[in-house]
Amino acid sequence: MALKIPAALLDQLRRHGEQTYPYECCGVLVGEFDSAGRKTVKAVVPCGNTRTDSPQNRYHIDPSELVRIQREAMLAGSDIAGFYHSHPDHPAQWSVTDLAEAHWTGCSYVITSVENGRAVLTNSFQLQDQVKDKDFENEVIEVSN
Ligand SMILES: [Zn+2]
Repeated sequence: MALKIPAALLDQLRRHGEQTYPYECCGVLVGEFDSAGRKTVKAVVPCGNTRTDSPQNRYHIDPSELVRIQREAMLAGSDIAGFYHSHPDHPAQWSVTDLAEAHWTGCSYVITSVENGRAVLTNSFQLQDQVKDKDFENEVIEVSN
């Protein structure tokens, strides 16, 4: 599957990771699913990282904040298309913890690596329901204007 995102929104989520460096940023991607399951991002909603025990390598979005974002998205005819967070001084690859804490099947999980305060790579992974367990599948990011 693919995640379509306007260049300005991709830039916005990457900048968020630079702003919170050396801590992780996190947020929600609001968008639309087409009939084939492809996602188009319409808005990037930055969230506060509520993890205080280990904000360098953990992120957590307040559930009540997530409920509010979902409600507003649905009122606008959109849905939650995915989530994003940053990996300060770590590769843009999902971790075992990322997979364990991901629950939204079909959604995109976007990770940006931030090295020395600068956003480097941004990758997207779609959470898949598997026979035995869930898994992340690499996903193409299609940048539009
Ligand atoms: Zn992570």
